[in-house]
Amino acid sequence: MSTPARVLVAGASAAGLATAEALRRKGYTGALTLLGDEEHVPYDRPPLSKQVLAGAWQPERSHLRTREVLDALDAEFLLGDAAASLDVANRTVHTESGRALAADAIVLATGVRPRTLPGQEGLTGVHVLRSLDDALALRAELLAARRLLVVGDGVLGAEIAATARGLGVEVVLAGPQAAPLAAQLGPLASGLLAELHNENGVKLRLGAGVDGLTTDAANSGRVTGARLCTGEVLEADLVVVALGAIPCTDWLEDSGLVLGNGVVCDSRCRAADGIYAAGDVARWHHEHLGSLLRLENRTNATEQALAVAANLLGADQPYTPIPYFWTDQFDAKLQIHGVLTADAEVSVVEGDPAARRFVARYARHGKAVGVLGWNMPKQARLHRRQHLGGSR
Ligand SMILES: Cc1cc2nc3c(=O)[nH]c(=O)nc-3n(C[C@H](O)[C@H](O)[C@H](O)COP(=O)(O)OP(=O)(O)OC[C@H]3O[C@@H](n4cnc5c(N)ncnc54)[C@H](O)[C@@H]3O)c2cc1C
Repeated sequence: MSTPARVLVAGASAAGLATAEALRRKGYTGALTLLGDEEHVPYDRPPLSKQVLAGAWQPERSHLRTREVLDALDAEFLLGDAAASLDVANRTVHTESGRALAADAIVLATGVRPRTLPGQEGLTGVHVLRSLDDALALRAELLAARRLLVVGDGVLGAEIAATARGLGVEVVLAGPQAAPLAAQLGPLASGLLAELHNENGVKLRLGAGVDGLTTDAANSGRVTGARLCTGEVLEADLVVVALGAIPCTDWLEDSGLVLGNGVVCDSRCRAADGIYAAGDVARWHHEHLGSLLRLENRTNATEQALAVAANLLGADQPYTPIPYFWTDQFDAKLQIHGVLTADAEVSVVEGDPAARRFVARYARHGKAVGVLGWNMPKQARLHRRQHLGGSR
């Protein structure tokens, strides 16, 4: 494909903005449009469950760029208008407000939306956390709450529980796993996380999934807690549902693109001729792993955007990252490189778990697949290079 005269990016957040910036850095001088359904200028999501929820940061501090930097990008930002459908043959996006935006190349960067529980929409006092508005709404209620129930024992649920405890709220964390993040990190690290949450006063009600939310007998429409699949009821005056996320591909359903847990792409992150996907919404063929992969992490949003920008300009390179994410909970800062699995063989290669400063190597059939750093970011990076290769 020759250099496109007009590029349209659907989704004006981490991956969308990084695509636009990478195009300009690589010398692209054509027309550039970013379409986003949120009214906000692009902002960063990791601080939402940490600094913004805690009140340590004003919301503006999560903005990814200043107005001046965005202006210098010489891109048209169409905010507060959602992409409603895509005409692949004519490379045209139709928006909720009735715009028809044609381009020579289109980048799909619409991310994911939170999974919810049945009946959740009709109740007050129940939150999800994906957007800046979600974070501010949750914070406002947290400041007045006595007891928070976090439904979901994954990364987001555990981070919200930790931040809420820091605000002095009673917190119960519920989920089906034996310990927070057990499926992702395995018994050693998730066991340490459980200890950390216990010590800091988070009540863990794990090992049983949540069946549904409860409301009072008068049916006021306000949540009163949740019912576990065991029948047990956990009471709370505020509930956060953090049960993972669903790729925002509804608007692409009639497009003819292959959809399946994201926008399915080839190894170049290409979904169709002139149409690419980047960030949480993209499920692409990872040539080194030999399988389709979709990552929901901040580093991938930027790195995949760089790969898409390069391929848009003719690089024809496969995107083969070593996955990476981090999480901050209480005083623990974890770095996770590679693809960890709960059943991996785990060996501590530096530091000491008892001192809560260590690096662990994860292997399958003797071959390293991941590295986890616990309060040892630099050392974790060195071990990543040694055990997993790559340049970082
Ligand atoms: C609270 C929270 C904490 C996180 N913490 C960490 C962390 O500690 N470490 C880490 O590695 N990752 C973390 N992440 C994940 C990280 O933020 C995401 O991987 C990253 O934001 C993905 O960027 P994206 O641009 O692909 O998607 P998103 O950031 O989701 O952006 C997609 C954008 O597209 C918009 N959109 C959706 N549909 C449409 C449509 N039809 N038309 C137009 N626009 C649309 C969305 O509203 C959104 O603005 C966290 C995420 C959250 C929510």
